[in-house]
This record gives sequence, structure tokens and C-alpha cells, in this order.
Amino acid sequence: MRPVIITANWKMNTTPADAGPLAADIAKATDVAGITRIICPPYVSLATVGESLAGTDVAVGAQNVHAEPKGAYTGEISATMLGGLVTWCIVGHSERRRDQFESDEVIGHKVVRLVEAGISPMLCCGEQLEEREAGSAVETVQGQVKAALEVVMAEGNGLPSDLVIAYEPVWAIGTGKTASGADAAEMADAIRSTVADIAGAEFAQNTPVLYGGSVTADSFAEFIGEPAIDGALIGGASLKPDQMSAIAAVAAQAAAARANA
Ligand code: PEP
Repeated sequence: MRPVIITANWKMNTTPADAGPLAADIAKATDVAGITRIICPPYVSLATVGESLAGTDVAVGAQNVHAEPKGAYTGEISATMLGGLVTWCIVGHSERRRDQFESDEVIGHKVVRLVEAGISPMLCCGEQLEEREAGSAVETVQGQVKAALEVVMAEGNGLPSDLVIAYEPVWAIGTGKTASGADAAEMADAIRSTVADIAGAEFAQNTPVLYGGSVTADSFAEFIGEPAIDGALIGGASLKPDQMSAIAAVAAQAAAARANA
């Protein structure tokens, strides 16, 4: 059975002074049974958030990693540097694809670096509004997933068993608009079909697929109500302990229902 996962992506918000207390508040507010919780603060707050979450089962994640193992990349952070600070790392977020022009191939290499460092990868994918309106959303997202994962497969060790994929339609991120639960579930099925082509049906069935894009306490139930969706990657609402508390409560109900099904 796949885990139910809620992931907080704080993006470029918080300071090292306020990140620790906020993480502690969220850990307390989301302390429910049966779900996996991950908080991804900015790099400069990873250590303080890790200290703040000690003694809880809330995992710490990074929001990005460099595609190369080391070298002359001023200002960048390698997977090795993240060792000991995080157990998860987001890669391929659409804001990085947009602002840093990250390609699927580069994103695939980032996954490789994470695997080498023993860090669990959360691979983001998602279509632009024009692609959805043109009817090419599924093709776009499947292409992103295939291109990134083929880079990982080329290493010869298969896909990492802890791989998580986050489907985030770009037009829904930070806009207050969401996909419908049915559309997100259709995309999760399409993503698993691509993963199955690459790594086999059983691997695909065991791969969690999260939805992201303006998830709030009000909208989360629609997504986790879909059996194909295993949780959420949450941006804006993840900075609010009361929102995260309500999301976690719904996630726990879903996890319990899935365990009893
Ligand atoms: C995100 O950061 O991945 C995200 C989905 O942001 P928001 O929830 O704010 O749309």
C-alpha cells in the first residue's frame, strides 16, 4: 500500500529565526497517525528546522539540488552537502523550470545525485495552461516524466524505490485555481503508465503520486478522495499551521480508510 504524504514547500519564505518555531508549530498541528509529513524550508533553515523537528517523525526536505556532484558552481548546493540535513529533496519544480530553465535531462541528473546521496527524490511535473487547453497536457507530463527517468535508468540501477512524483499543473500553482480531482487522478494514472513502461507495472503501482497547485484545507479532500492520488505538495497554505492541521486531519482519515479497504 502506498503512503499518504503531505509535503510543505515553503519556497523563498521564512528566515532561520522563524523557520524553527514554524516547523515546530506545524509538527504539533499535524500530529496525526498514519501519514508521512515532510517540510521543505529554504536551504539556510534546513539545520534549524531539523533541530526543531528532532523527536518527531516529520522529515526535512530540500527544495532543490545541483545536477553535478561537485565543482565550480558558485552558490550551488550538492546532494552530498545535503547529507545529514535532509531525507527528501524536491526536483523539477515548475518555478525552477521557469526561472532557471531547468530541462528534463538536468532534472534527471538531479535525481541521480540524490540516489547517490541516499536522499529520497520528489520529482515534479506539470503542464502549462496552453498545453491543457490544447489537449496536450497528458502528453506533456508523460514526456517530462519519461525524459527525466530515462536519465536515471541510464545509470543502470533502475529507479529508486523511494521515488515520489508530484503532479503540479503550472496554471494552478499559487493562483488559487486547482485542477479537478478527476483531472488530477487521470494524470496520476497517465504518470503511472509512463513509469510502468520504464520500470514495470508493479513499480508504478507502488509509486506515490501527489497533487500540487493551490491546495488548501478546503480543496485537499477532493484530491485525496481519488484513489490514484496519494497526498499533496503544498506551497502557500503550508506556511499556515491551521491549514496544515486541517489538511493532515483529512489525510489521516484517507490513510485509515485505505488501510481498511
Ligand atoms: C508548490 O509550491 O509546489 C505549490 C503547489 O504552491 P501553491 O500550493 O502555493 O500553489
